[in-house]
Amino acid sequence: MPSSKSLDELTSLIREFVEERDWTQYQRPLPLAISASIEMGELLELFQWLAEEEIRTNLQDSEYRLALADEIADVMIYLIRLADVTGIDLTKAILSKMEKNRLKYPVESFRGRIPHQPPHE
Ligand SMILES: [Mg+2]
Repeated sequence: MPSSKSLDELTSLIREFVEERDWTQYQRPLPLAISASIEMGELLELFQWLAEEEIRTNLQDSEYRLALADEIADVMIYLIRLADVTGIDLTKAILSKMEKNRLKYPVESFRGRIPHQPPHE
């Protein structure tokens, strides 16, 4: 499968997968958000208790990379689906949030440093 699918294509592909299995009834916002969080936990497990150096070493291993790719994909699939069932245009949302981030963290003030105490959103 080519890796150049658009977000719209991925959304449709995930929607079709759900509809073919008659899972739409289960795909409500709360269970989808919980599922995304569970998958995020699985992703974090791959880093749990490892030092930066160990993670860097693991990333050389194809099996580890595949496990990481699977968990990143699981998180993204649930988030894409959550956006789909709530009618949120994810591309628009990301572009809008990145614009807010650009204004909140101007390059001239934040280049090379992260904010210590970002204001609460
Ligand atoms: Mg998983």
